[in-house]
Amino acid sequence: MDYKKYIKNQIDEFSAKGFKRTFTPVYRFKDTFPFTKIDFNNIEEEYHSTNTRIWCSNDYLNMSHNPEVIDRMIEVIKTVGTGSGGTRNISGSTPYHNQLEKDIANFHCRDKALIFSSAYIANQATLSTLCKRIENIKVFSDELNHASLIEGIKNSKADCSIFRHNDLDHLEKLLSECELDRPKIIVFESLYSMDGTKANVAEYVRLAKKYNALTYLDEVHAVGLYGKKGRGVAQECGVSDQIDIINGTLAKGFGQIGGYITGDEILIDFIKSFAPGFIFTTSMMPAIAAAASKSIEIVQTLDEERKLVFSKANYIKNQLKKVGIDFIDSDSHIIPVLAYDESKVKDYSNTLLNKHNTYLQPIFYPTVPKGSARLRITVTPKHSITDINDLISSLRMTWGKHSQRVISAPLQPAMAL
Ligand code: PLP
Repeated sequence: MDYKKYIKNQIDEFSAKGFKRTFTPVYRFKDTFPFTKIDFNNIEEEYHSTNTRIWCSNDYLNMSHNPEVIDRMIEVIKTVGTGSGGTRNISGSTPYHNQLEKDIANFHCRDKALIFSSAYIANQATLSTLCKRIENIKVFSDELNHASLIEGIKNSKADCSIFRHNDLDHLEKLLSECELDRPKIIVFESLYSMDGTKANVAEYVRLAKKYNALTYLDEVHAVGLYGKKGRGVAQECGVSDQIDIINGTLAKGFGQIGGYITGDEILIDFIKSFAPGFIFTTSMMPAIAAAASKSIEIVQTLDEERKLVFSKANYIKNQLKKVGIDFIDSDSHIIPVLAYDESKVKDYSNTLLNKHNTYLQPIFYPTVPKGSARLRITVTPKHSITDINDLISSLRMTWGKHSQRVISAPLQPAMAL
């Protein structure tokens, strides 16, 4: 077999369909954000040449640029160095890791937490372990669930039913068709990052109790922003203590890197004991753990910044309606602007970057369904009203004359099981 030819054919086919991704090399200078520099030539220059505004970062509260967090990271690097030197069970558990797990558990008001190298790994490792080890478990998964949740479920080879996005009636129908004494788990997200839709978490808990199912909730895009002190949508809905496993990231609202699960002691100990993705990998840099702890402490105090994110997001949505640009409307801070067509979205993104110094990464299949290509706007406390007005006028000029079409329902899923 000619392996290289075989592999190349697949890449060529993917590229011919227009699905190949290009990565944009962006400096996110801390002192000038949201002004930044796109550097395809890798030439480090003065900040002054920074003229592009970034509109698609998941550093929702600018915590990756927070001076206290930066100081804490540097301080710990100077004390214990960079790498952790081992897995959690062989020399790689430090007081910084243990403290971070305590801080996460306290933040969510739960017994215990477990940290992973990313929320992707946390989802994959936890779900595959849980669903492999609970014999005959049946999984109920939202059709728009993230790839990491899908991979975890797939790896476990557990039987899985997919319910329509955020459709509680459909979920209940599927649950009611399953034997009551069969183990079950409902897997869903509180905030869907590509559509901006939010789940009614309290209703999921009600259904889980009625049908005796476990609940696994991904709060990756919600932690830091929603609920009291940024504790997430489950907290906002008053049911944070009733979700069996909450998953979150340290990389978005908290601005660092890493992921976690939190919940009752028994379940967390179960994953700690049996998940290969937790134990057989080097633990995160101690300085990152310490910086993440600092970030969690600060994020809880950022009520003003949270308000700013939502008021600015609403302002953007109103302006988009005024200029007649299609977007998916929701009550979240995420604003997906629809270009629909895969090649059109790339043209729009290139024009915005090259003519209007506006960086919005094009998003298309397989990240989102075919024909629903989009630019996903995320606003942060550091974006000003002038920045927003410039963004709207750049979008308007790029889009040209299009009719207004606000979509309230999500489109078809991209990555069904
Ligand atoms: N879950 C969801 C819903 C996500 O959107 C993402 C990434 O964007 C992840 C999990 C993975 O998070 P992380 O970047 O920490 O791996």
